[in-house]
Amino acid sequence: MKTRISKHIDSAIELLTNNQLVAIPTETVYGLAGNALNPETVLHIYEVKKRPHFDPLIVHTDSIEKIKSYVHEIPLIIHELAQKYSPGPLTFVLPKNDRIPDLVSSGLDSIAVRIPDHPMTLDLLSALDFPLAAPSANLFGKISPTSAQHVYNQLNGKIPLILDGGDCSIGIESTIVSWKNNKLEVLRLGGITIEQLKNIAGEENIHALKNDQITAPGQLKSHYTTQTPLIIGDLPSLIEKHKDSKIAVLSFCKKYDQLENQFVLSPHADLHEAAQNLFKAMHALDALKMDFILTEVFPNTGLGLAINDRLARASFRD
Ligand code: AMP
Ligand code: MG
Repeated sequence: MKTRISKHIDSAIELLTNNQLVAIPTETVYGLAGNALNPETVLHIYEVKKRPHFDPLIVHTDSIEKIKSYVHEIPLIIHELAQKYSPGPLTFVLPKNDRIPDLVSSGLDSIAVRIPDHPMTLDLLSALDFPLAAPSANLFGKISPTSAQHVYNQLNGKIPLILDGGDCSIGIESTIVSWKNNKLEVLRLGGITIEQLKNIAGEENIHALKNDQITAPGQLKSHYTTQTPLIIGDLPSLIEKHKDSKIAVLSFCKKYDQLENQFVLSPHADLHEAAQNLFKAMHALDALKMDFILTEVFPNTGLGLAINDRLARASFRD
């Protein structure tokens, strides 16, 4: 199969309506999308990604009204969050009704649903009379794609079309929340920060989990893996320790003058910019085929928490 890259939604509408898969741009990362109401299409998504069936998919749609038609109810605080941060990088886990096949939710009685903030994909979603199930458009466990080219590099020949909406503006996956025992529970850290959640939900209504307790199903210790081993620590010491190896360095804001292969995520120490560049940098440094990628712990606040989560999973090897 030949994979086309296009900036127009027409053929995406046609392919998706015919239950084929299309990679779509969102503000977080590119998604591998298919009709969420058709079990065979959903099965095809798992197959192309080589994703285990226990890892449920996020359903994408373009309005809160449409979300309501797939769930039993939306708790008040979730509704307020949806009004404030949708479209945006926030996913809601809600009790699902029978319209959504069990395969989408890996057999759970809830679904994860969000409204992506990308003009092209919002146009696409409003033209379709079904929602799109869309996990990140990479092979399972590998680095998430933040450009059409990243998708092409991993899925060329496996899907008919990649919709090219440019580089992703947020660059890391959505934050996932659910409502449990009258508290908001954060299942995955991502593009919406804990502070932003507190602003709307109130600190007292958030069940704060420690970083290593945050477990949405399918979130594995090893994820986003680079081919090149990735090591996290104090960068100057790591660089000194590996001075006889071929190294690439991924830093937050500091440039190391003597080094050739490095990616500074944000020279002005802006965590937004760092998140936006994170996967691009990981793809680029991995392609250099060095012995190691050395990186550091980012500030443990705001989007830094989500970045540290991604780096920890990328560095984990069994
Ligand atoms: P991805 O689409 O790759 O960003 O990942 C989607 C993630 O959403 C899954 O790996 C789960 O962690 C989470 N998720 C999806 N559906 C549910 C659900 N019903 N309950 C809890 N978490 C979910
Ligand atoms: Mg993913």
